[in-house]
Amino acid sequence: MAHDDGFPAQQQQPPGLTEPMTPRPDHGEESYVGSGKLEGQRALITGGDSGIGRAVAIAFAREGADVAIVYLPEEQADARETAEWVAKEGRRCVLIPTDLRVEIDARSAVRSAAEQLDGLDILVNNAGYQMARRQSFADVTSEDLDRTFTTNLYALFWVTQTALEYLPDGGSIINNSSIQAYQPSESLLDYAATKAAINNFTVNLASELGPRRIRVNAVAPGPIWTPLQPATQYSEKIEKFGSETPIGRAGQPAEVAPAFVFLASNVTASYVSATVLGVTGGKPVF
Ligand code: NAD
Ligand code: MG
Repeated sequence: MAHDDGFPAQQQQPPGLTEPMTPRPDHGEESYVGSGKLEGQRALITGGDSGIGRAVAIAFAREGADVAIVYLPEEQADARETAEWVAKEGRRCVLIPTDLRVEIDARSAVRSAAEQLDGLDILVNNAGYQMARRQSFADVTSEDLDRTFTTNLYALFWVTQTALEYLPDGGSIINNSSIQAYQPSESLLDYAATKAAINNFTVNLASELGPRRIRVNAVAPGPIWTPLQPATQYSEKIEKFGSETPIGRAGQPAEVAPAFVFLASNVTASYVSATVLGVTGGKPVF
């Protein structure tokens, strides 16, 4: 599992796919063992086709949950593979190819998930976009900003608002933040700003939803080996990806998923809300 020596140089176009990656990420396919922590729950995972979202889908299924995943149409092959792993557990995986940057589509994706799963107990806002830039801040264009802010923030609002029409008292919302909220990279200025906003959104919404016993938390991953990286980072960065962490390597999606299970489950986290849980290989999240 460890890749102490970094990764071979490689490049894809966004959104990126799992198949061309060397080495293949570990989503816990052969390792995650469930123990009924989400028995009978229904979860919507945006970006659940690949990377961290796929590892969360597999772990949730092994904990007894049915899942729906939203992803871009060009990621159908990845979505199918996630669905196969979920189906192996005897759980449902509803596939909803949708571009979340379109408000009406984002909202109808959530409705479709809730209708097909016959309700919704858990929302995982995991879909995200970044693009590393060599140019200075002055060169960030409105197109750059639109894609990053619409994917990471507008869609987060639309999806969460609509999910709240279905989430029962005792439901759970988990947002995917990033170490970038705490230690921003110049090359990811707009992305890092959205992740800081997601942390702020998390604690604020947790306050409003506390009386409904809906818990709102976030996970802040460090460098994790997923299609997002070769699709949005420079090759020379990929070769050293993760080596700057105290643990000295990138993490695998399988190493992040248990944090989502912990926060999703009322068995383990019934009194945990407004928290941002770092899974960073030792980088501080405060
Ligand atoms: P990933 O590429 O596997 O997952 C991101 C997913 O976002 C894609 O699979 C895609 O389905 C979805 N997505 C993007 N734009 C979309 C759109 N317009 N409509 C619908 N879906 C869209 O990569 P990942 O690293 O697993 O990313 C998951 C989350 O983890 C993201 O929010 C990312 O910011 C966050 N994160 C990743 C890392 C890392 O190092 N990989 C670190 C910190 C945070
Ligand atoms: Mg993907």
